[in-house]
This record gives sequence, structure tokens and C-alpha cells, in this order.
Amino acid sequence: MSKKKGSRKWEREWMFNEHHLVPKVCGGKANPQNLITLDISRHVCWHFLFGNLTIDEVIEMLERLKRCQKNRKGKIPHKRSNK
Ligand SMILES: [Zn+2]
Repeated sequence: MSKKKGSRKWEREWMFNEHHLVPKVCGGKANPQNLITLDISRHVCWHFLFGNLTIDEVIEMLERLKRCQKNRKGKIPHKRSNK
């Protein structure tokens, strides 16, 4: 298959790339068990939001935030009063 600009392979490689489930900086390898294909915009968003955190680290962080939210419920007003 051609990688010529405009070809299907070029288009696919331009629109999608591989995300390491265990980041390379943490020793993650470029093997099929550690790679998932994401479209570029989602991949950029992942790293913008979560840097090189793993999925488990992100879940743990979100669960901590959820617990914080539950603990603060009713103590912090959602809106400022206009006095
Ligand atoms: Zn990635």
C-alpha cells in the first residue's frame, strides 16, 4: 500500500496514531498489548488533560475528585451571592 500523500495509508497515518497504555517514559513498549489506536484529536486531548498518566492513574485521580466532591457537598455554594 502506498504512503504517498493523499493515499489511504497516508490518510490513515495522518488521522490516527498509536497511544502507549504504559507510557514510553515509564518503560512502556511499542507492542500490540501496550498500544491502542486513537484519532489524532482524541490523542492530543488525552495528553493535554492527563499528560503521561496511565488509565489506572486517571481513574484513581477521578475517583479522588469524586470523593472530594461528595465530602464537600453542601459546604461550598455553587454560586456566589450578589450582595
Ligand atoms: Zn499517547
